[in-house]
Amino acid sequence: MAPPVEERAAAAENLLGMAVPADLTRLARALAARTEEVIVDAVAICEIPAPTFHEARRARHVLRRMRALGLGAPRLEETGNVVAELPGAADGPTVVLTAHLDTVFEADVPVRVRREGAVLRAPGIGDNSLGVAGLLWLGGALRALPGRGTLVLVANTCEEGLGDLRGARAAWDRYGARADAWIVLEGATFNRAVYAGVCSRRLEVGYRAAGGHSWLDFGRPSAVHAIGRLVDQIAAIRPPREPRTTYNVGVLRGGTTVNSIAASASLLLDMRSEDPAALDALDRTVRDLAAAVAAASDVEVSVEVVGDRPGGRLPDGHPLFSVVNAAAEAVGVPVEWESGSTDANVPLSHGAAAVCLGLARGEGAHTRDEAVDVGALPLGLTQACLVAASLLRRPALTKFAVIDSTSAGRSTRESVDQ
Ligand SMILES: [Zn+2]
Repeated sequence: MAPPVEERAAAAENLLGMAVPADLTRLARALAARTEEVIVDAVAICEIPAPTFHEARRARHVLRRMRALGLGAPRLEETGNVVAELPGAADGPTVVLTAHLDTVFEADVPVRVRREGAVLRAPGIGDNSLGVAGLLWLGGALRALPGRGTLVLVANTCEEGLGDLRGARAAWDRYGARADAWIVLEGATFNRAVYAGVCSRRLEVGYRAAGGHSWLDFGRPSAVHAIGRLVDQIAAIRPPREPRTTYNVGVLRGGTTVNSIAASASLLLDMRSEDPAALDALDRTVRDLAAAVAAASDVEVSVEVVGDRPGGRLPDGHPLFSVVNAAAEAVGVPVEWESGSTDANVPLSHGAAAVCLGLARGEGAHTRDEAVDVGALPLGLTQACLVAASLLRRPALTKFAVIDSTSAGRSTRESVDQ
């Protein structure tokens, strides 16, 4: 049987090496010792449904918890984000810590959490109830850090699906100008750190024609025939492997009956890239094909952007890499750097220092069988605490030039939605 969480928390304490300043070690130890309380909060948060665009109930709960934990004067903003500012030294840096409130599940999906030893099961428990609970307790621990700068805690809306990072964008609008670093928390991606935000764009391409009778009007333009030609041509596009760039026609709609020439048809296309320039190039290619097929098929074309997530990446050698690597070393689990689609996309797209960190190990994200193993949670909390504390005490990080698309040999695993 796996050792209980308390024992692992104790093991996490012992791993903290001499390289970490003593007061940071004390802070991280105190936090790891409260792992059970973090879990209790994660369960309570998870059991309040929060589909994207419907996070208000969960947000009010988080607001009450921030008040109860004494995290400054938290407020619920018009955007739906819950924000607490913990002012620090006037000349110190400002660090924003965020975790998204929303889930991919509809409000009627059962969210009661089952616990089997170190494993918690429920839709949304890892993505991202545990992240939000971690945000609360990290805020509580970091509040006491001597000589720190200003800490801003944001439990934000709209990270998932068609939320299009609306909550993170709202946080950027408010704090982008003064924040020196951004740390995005995810519950279930322990020891994986996202340093590159994959940018994505979703298009709806529609064709329209006059339509008609399949026998009497044979030969008239058909929107369905046209969209079929377009899908064939899109499928022949060979996007670059480096920077990794992908596309997928995920939905096809059109026509009304088998004996009518289709008057309308449309497709939904998802495009992603590690490099915004490559995404733009793919976007242009698709639009050119859509127009050429429309002209050749004698139909009207419309192209609408139905989703647009900005991207960006930390440039090689950015100091945030060494801050995270040092914290990972301190807990004895090296970090794997990867690209992904998270709230960190927003600051990264503006050239701000940002990283997404995971707190525990999970599986089945975005499915009803989602589970997290909180065995690593003391380590995840310790690591995030050391990263945040280090950033809160260092001189301001300078912004970098937006988008360095060279990958310079750093290994990148499959990118993931989180
Ligand atoms: Zn998530």
